[in-house]
Amino acid sequence: MNDVIDPPATLFVNGEWVSAAAGGAREIRCPADQSLVGAVAEAGVADAERAIAAARHAFDRGDWPRTPAGTRGDLLLVVAGRIRDRKEEFARAESLDTGKRLVESRIDMDDIANCLRYFGKLAGVEAGRLVDAGSPTVVSRISYEPVGVCGLITPWNYPLLQAAWKVAPALAAGNTFVLKPSELTPHTAMLLMDVLGEVGLPAGVANLVLGSGAVAGAPLAEHPDVDLVSFTGGLETGRRIAAAATGTVKKVALELGGKNPNVVFADADFDAAVDNALNAAFVHAGQVCSAGARLVVEESLHGRFVDELVRRAERIRMGGPFDEAAEIGPLISAAHRDKVTAYVQRGLAEGAVLRCGGTWGEGELAQGFFYAPTVLDGVRSGMSVVRDEGFGPVVTVETFTTEDEAVRIGNDTHYGLAAAVWTQDAGKAQRVAGRLRHGTVWINDFHPYLPQAEWGGFGQSGVGRELGPTGLAEYQEAKHIYHNIDPQVTGWFEGS
Ligand code: NDP
Repeated sequence: MNDVIDPPATLFVNGEWVSAAAGGAREIRCPADQSLVGAVAEAGVADAERAIAAARHAFDRGDWPRTPAGTRGDLLLVVAGRIRDRKEEFARAESLDTGKRLVESRIDMDDIANCLRYFGKLAGVEAGRLVDAGSPTVVSRISYEPVGVCGLITPWNYPLLQAAWKVAPALAAGNTFVLKPSELTPHTAMLLMDVLGEVGLPAGVANLVLGSGAVAGAPLAEHPDVDLVSFTGGLETGRRIAAAATGTVKKVALELGGKNPNVVFADADFDAAVDNALNAAFVHAGQVCSAGARLVVEESLHGRFVDELVRRAERIRMGGPFDEAAEIGPLISAAHRDKVTAYVQRGLAEGAVLRCGGTWGEGELAQGFFYAPTVLDGVRSGMSVVRDEGFGPVVTVETFTTEDEAVRIGNDTHYGLAAAVWTQDAGKAQRVAGRLRHGTVWINDFHPYLPQAEWGGFGQSGVGRELGPTGLAEYQEAKHIYHNIDPQVTGWFEGS
């Protein structure tokens, strides 16, 4: 973090761009080569509180919560259109902050527009429901109302996509919000605020604070004027946020990653299973909450499968966001690369067998935080590389001999975000998918998700769901309105 002479006005509060009250600023550098991307404001607690006050005031003013839900939805469709129009600008900003390949950032921008369109169309479809009160003179209805002020805290791996999964349903439901993206990846959140400002969202409905989680993010979990905190990130931070939120008993939604088993039976389509195992483990350098970092292969297939996996993993080309031949980019930071390095070293010390990788990028890649695709064979339940999320391009390999054992290994985790099953036997696929305790189970595929399908985890992968109708319900309160059209004397207190 550096001081600059003109503090950048990159916080969005009450419909205006402002600088941090204390004048702080932070340099953002591309993890592919450490080149300077820009300088942004570094918010302090006072800035976060100012943004919360703006969101509170806008909610209490009531214009946005009382805007018809269909009209709110229409506005989200306009936002989706603007992002599509500016897709290249958004994608480049995302790639510079994250080091992610431009082609992947473009896909993220399409997914973001689709997410906004989904919630735009869902808004206003159901305002509530009638309940049978058992009496012709009673109208009993449930109305779905906004929760209030939402604190939205997002990570660095899919910066704008994770923000869209929260911002879209929050706005569709009529809430106001303060968004706090990762300190490492602020630029696409700024572009989103630019669009939200342009399309006529009332002042104070959307607010952005940039800065460190411990300083600028913590008030979103603690402050009494925030009614809901939705967080995506690491398990330890999630625990801290949940604990901080208990003081004001606010609603808490957590997406905390996973240790996701990719179960391959011997009768799987070999080429498709290998190809998807590479994609599952190494896309975006494994910095994916649903990464298939735990390969669980039927014993009889193990040798052939791992040989082919390693042969192809060794050929994966690392490179910067604008290198069109690159297949994976760098890790997000030097600190994160150190963490991944230590994680692999711990696995080797515990007895894992290194089949490939375990090295940093060299030559022209040495300026960035590249880590080679890594395959760790011969691992056992209980090893840290099997238990803990690595969040790098690292896959471990375990084996099984029976269907029951495959399910037992697949469920041997305190997480439960996602899993996959590879087999050409549809009955076996359905049986195993039904028994795996994970929020998403793919059969003969890995990674696709749909904005209309709920996303979230069992176990310590989190609390609540994003996307789908449940993803909207997370941002709504259900209110029961009981109308007695023909009130009678109850006779309850006859003696009084
Ligand atoms: P964190 O969980 O620390 O960060 C996620 C977000 O939370 C960031 O915006 C961060 O801010 C913010 N934050 C951090 N501390 C607090 C706090 N006390 N109160 C409020 N907000 C806070 O992720 P890391 O970047 O440290 O990554 C740690 C690990 O998390 C990774 O190695 C990986 O295992 C996992 N992870 C999981 C993700 C997922 O999709 N489930 C995504 C990213 C990481 P800031 O970054 O500005 O400090």
